[in-house]
Amino acid sequence: MRSFSGRQVLSDISLTVPQGHITCLLGPSGCGKSTLLRLIAGVDRPDGGRIELNGEPIADDGIFVQPENRHIGFMFQDYALFPHLSVRDNLAFGLKHLDRAARAQRIDEIAGRIGITALLPRFPHSLSGGEQQRVALARALAPQPGILLMDEPFSNLDRGLRERVRRDTTELLHQLGTTAIIVTHDPEEALAIGDMIVLMRDGKIEQQGTPFDIYDRPRSAYAAEFMGPCN
Ligand code: ATP
Ligand code: MG
Repeated sequence: MRSFSGRQVLSDISLTVPQGHITCLLGPSGCGKSTLLRLIAGVDRPDGGRIELNGEPIADDGIFVQPENRHIGFMFQDYALFPHLSVRDNLAFGLKHLDRAARAQRIDEIAGRIGITALLPRFPHSLSGGEQQRVALARALAPQPGILLMDEPFSNLDRGLRERVRRDTTELLHQLGTTAIIVTHDPEEALAIGDMIVLMRDGKIEQQGTPFDIYDRPRSAYAAEFMGPCN
C-alpha cells in the first residue's frame, strides 16, 4: 500500500513473481507501475503491506531491508548512466564488493555477453541510444541480482531498433535465467516479452496471468479494451 498526501496510489496489490521468468507490469500512465517498482527496489517505503524476497520479508511492520542489501538490479527508463564515468567504470559501480581481479573478470564477462566489449573505454555521451541501453542492462546485470527491475526499458528507442533490442534482451534474460519485472504501458510489448502479465488499473491489479490468459480471456471490459488494439 502506498499513499501520497492521503491519496492512495497503490492498494490491494498481491503479486508473486515467478523465478527465472519475465513478468510485465502493464497499465496506463499514472496507474502506479513505477511506484510499485520503487517499493520493490526499496527506494521508497510502503505505508502498509508486506514485500518478500525468496520468502524473506524485506518490507513489513518494523522491517525494512535497505536497497543495497536486497540484491535487486534496477534499470531506469532514462538509463541513468554516470556521465563522468567510462562504460567500464559504470559497470564497476555495483561491483565494489569484489577485489580488482574479480571485478575486471566480471566486467569482461558481462560485456562480452551483451556485446559491448568495444564500448568499455567510451563515455556515455558518445554512445547511441541503443548502445546506452545495452550498457545500462550490463550495469544492472553485472552484480548478478536475484531480480532485475526495468522501468520502460525500451521506450527511449526508436521503433525500428526497439523490436530487435527487445528480442535480444528477453533472449538474454531467459538464457541467464534472470527473474525480471519489466514495466510497460504498451500491451503489444507486454504480449511480446512477458511470460506473465500483470495488468494494473488505478493502483490495483485488474488481472494477472499468462499472455494467453490476458489476451484471450480478459475478465473485464477494461482488460478487453486495454488489450484491444492488438486484436
Ligand atoms: P507512467 O506510465 O506515466 O510512468 P506509472 O504507472 O508509472 O505512470 P506512477 O509514477 O507510479 O505511475 O504514479 C502513480 C500515481 O502516483 C500518479 O498519480 C503520480 O502522480 C503519483 N505519485 C507518484 N509518486 C509520487 C510522489 N512522490 N508524490 C506524490 N504523488 C506521487
Ligand atoms: Mg512510470
